[in-house]
Order: sequence, then C-alpha cells, then structure tokens
Amino acid sequence: MADWRQLGLCATADPEVFFTSGPPGAALENLCRSCPSLIPCTFDALKRSDSGYQAGLKVVDRQAIRRWDRRQRNLETAGRPRKDKR
Ligand code: SF4
Repeated sequence: MADWRQLGLCATADPEVFFTSGPPGAALENLCRSCPSLIPCTFDALKRSDSGYQAGLKVVDRQAIRRWDRRQRNLETAGRPRKDKR
C-alpha cells in the first residue's frame, strides 16, 4: 500500500501552488483541504516543528493546536473533564 505522502495531492501538484502570487499559502490551503492524506499529514505536521505550511496549516496554526491539546491534557491530569468531551 502506498504511503500517505505518495497519495498527497502536493506530490503531483503544479509548482505554482507553492509559489502563488495571491495571499501566502491560500492555494496550498485549498489543495490540502481536498487532499486524501490530510489527516495523517496533519498528525505528522503536529509532531514536527518545521517552518512553512504543512497540511494546510501555518506555523502559528500548528502552535495553537498544540497549546490547545496541552491544555486539554492538563485538565485531564487534574481530574477535570476535557472541554472537547460532552
Ligand atoms: S495535506 Fe497538503 S501538505 Fe499534506 S500531503 Fe496533502 S497536499 Fe500535501
């Protein structure tokens, strides 16, 4: 079975997607939203601290998700329910 990286739309995308004249990253974000590898790519991106876009997320987006996840884990450790559970 193919690795999710090989199935990612960016593997065969037009290089213009990466060097757009529009808002930074807008074309790449749109590409990622329709990518079949978005979920594994997002998990991978959250494990690493590379610069630039990954899984359609900016560095600040990935930092915000990690902070949110740390807060949720801290709530659990303190014996309080995660705010994402109902
Ligand atoms: S989600 Fe985006 S960066 Fe990740 S594999 Fe797909 S196209 Fe590439």
